[in-house]
Amino acid sequence: MSFVVAIDGPAGSGKGTVTKLLAEKLNLVNIDTGAMYRCVALYCLDNNIESTNIANIKNNLDNINIELKRENGKQQVYLNNKNVSEKIRTPEVDSVVAKYAAIKEVRDKVTPMQRKMGEKDDIIMEGRDIGTVVFPNADVKIFLECSIEERAKRRYKQDIEKGINVTYEEVLESIIERHKLETQREVAPFVKADDAILVDSTNMSIEEVVNEIEKIIIEKKNKKRII
Ligand code: C5P
Repeated sequence: MSFVVAIDGPAGSGKGTVTKLLAEKLNLVNIDTGAMYRCVALYCLDNNIESTNIANIKNNLDNINIELKRENGKQQVYLNNKNVSEKIRTPEVDSVVAKYAAIKEVRDKVTPMQRKMGEKDDIIMEGRDIGTVVFPNADVKIFLECSIEERAKRRYKQDIEKGINVTYEEVLESIIERHKLETQREVAPFVKADDAILVDSTNMSIEEVVNEIEKIIIEKKNKKRII
């Protein structure tokens, strides 16, 4: 049976970076589930399908082919055979993705794909509902917290570095709106699993967060070996 680490956390909590580093250190396959919802949102944006038009989204789900591939040690995201790794991370996608991710039919398509990915490899999977819905029996569950202001600060810095023209206030507003949609949705809301370990990254460096979670994973791995 494979070893599964679930990392759930909000946008800007550092979970992407932390997950990538932990995967390299501990030889786990890194799976970014947010990328899959971003693909659905990008497809709908490109085809002018509003998030309120559930019937149209349902009709199109079979036309959305998402693949996460590992190329030169990096995860690349393909939507209908096109590499969209960069295109799914624009403020435009940021601002609508949570609306598409709240749709039951969308999650019904994506969740089984995620479970399948964890069948054969030892994985570290990041998202919002990994410890609660996708892998409720994960070996390790981490809930990564971070204050909303610090998250906006980090995301703003990332956007500016990428050359995206936004203000801090716009990023903050987008993060607040997305958080509201994610925590209040009916299907697979973003909540802490009862048995998840809370790590608050607000005042921690990436290295400190990685070290803390690494310790937790190693301890669990050793315990599993003994049992
Ligand atoms: O993690 P990231 O910010 O890339 O995720 C993009 C969006 O996908 C989130 O805002 C959230 O609405 C959705 N998501 C989700 N469940 C997951 C992962 C992401 O609903 N497991």
